[in-house]
Amino acid sequence: MTRFAWGAASDTGRVRQANEDSFLAVDGLFAVADGMGGHQAGEVASHLALECLQDGFTAAGTDVLVRSVEDANRTLVSRSTADPELAGMGTTLVAMALVDANGRDAIGVVNVGDSRLYLMSDGNLAQITEDHSLVATMERQGRLTAAEAAVHPQRNILTRALGIDGSVLVDSWEILPIIGDRYLICSDGLFNEVDENRISATLRRIADPSEACRELIRLANEGGGRDNITCVIVDIIDDAGRDPNADPANRVRTSHTGGDLTYEEPSSVQPKEPRAPSALRSSFTWRVGVFIAAFVFVILAGFAFIWWTGTKTWYVGVSGQNVAIFHGKPGGVLWIQPELAEESELLVANVPQAAMFDVENGVEQPSLGSARSYIANLIEQNAKSASSTSSSSTSTSSTTTTIAR
Ligand code: MN
Repeated sequence: MTRFAWGAASDTGRVRQANEDSFLAVDGLFAVADGMGGHQAGEVASHLALECLQDGFTAAGTDVLVRSVEDANRTLVSRSTADPELAGMGTTLVAMALVDANGRDAIGVVNVGDSRLYLMSDGNLAQITEDHSLVATMERQGRLTAAEAAVHPQRNILTRALGIDGSVLVDSWEILPIIGDRYLICSDGLFNEVDENRISATLRRIADPSEACRELIRLANEGGGRDNITCVIVDIIDDAGRDPNADPANRVRTSHTGGDLTYEEPSSVQPKEPRAPSALRSSFTWRVGVFIAAFVFVILAGFAFIWWTGTKTWYVGVSGQNVAIFHGKPGGVLWIQPELAEESELLVANVPQAAMFDVENGVEQPSLGSARSYIANLIEQNAKSASSTSSSSTSTSSTTTTIAR
């Protein structure tokens, strides 16, 4: 018979006005939910989700635990659809429960969102759950390191949450309970402010679960307290209820054979097969929506800028044998090629030598009018040089002009 000792604490933090986190700590069922949504919607979401979880957990099975999370999701969706004040509310949920796995005790774990369950075993802390967040996805894809993800400005963007979509993918695990193991369930308000080494050291140092929770919250507030902070600590204790840490002999794992349940080292614990039919669908939360909107805006602004620089300028250049005015930039900007606006009477051959290089490469002008006067000026210069030197070569070029046209 597996027995637990536990403690829990939750705090608004030093910045937020309200605490939208909720926790549940009853014998054999422990959970944390981190709600989101305007006004009081986040509080309603996290509270309602845990209420549904508790109501739905009627039999000690991991499948029952998963189903009650799915039920909680449906309840949240219908409540937020029915009540405009609750529209858009959502919540994370991570829960652990004592379940029966083929006649043996096991710890069933379920997770949706970016709250976490850690397991401290033999003094080593390991994160069991996988965050359903944008940065965690990028980290898995190798686009961010763990250190970069920990300080990324978009680290609060979720890829899965309860209350957003009618169906939700719930990750689940089954872990063999070992006397002396310590579980920590917490919201992101803890691990965003306190690094894992300090969490780990605190869990090792303070034996009393309630006291350890309070210390973790103190550390998170000391680190900034920018979000609500919630911790639930659950210790697996022996039948006599003794503190296993007091007796090193009790820390040795008993070997378990037979049955389907095998204990895996925390680092290699894998989620069970996804249960929802829409395995590849991510639920988009409003935070994802805001991120995408900002991303699209930046892209559009970039295109608009390129289009503007590519088209809202003029230059004088060469079109065949004539000097002409073009709309755009000499050589074009990316895919935007300059367009011929108007050809002038002036032949390239008659452009004064001093301006020839410029004209061949394109002389940028702020407006069509200034481009026209630039050409008019060239024509004038050409006429002056033609009249001042009444040589035959100039008159020949005049003749050429007539023929060419
Ligand atoms: Mn949070």
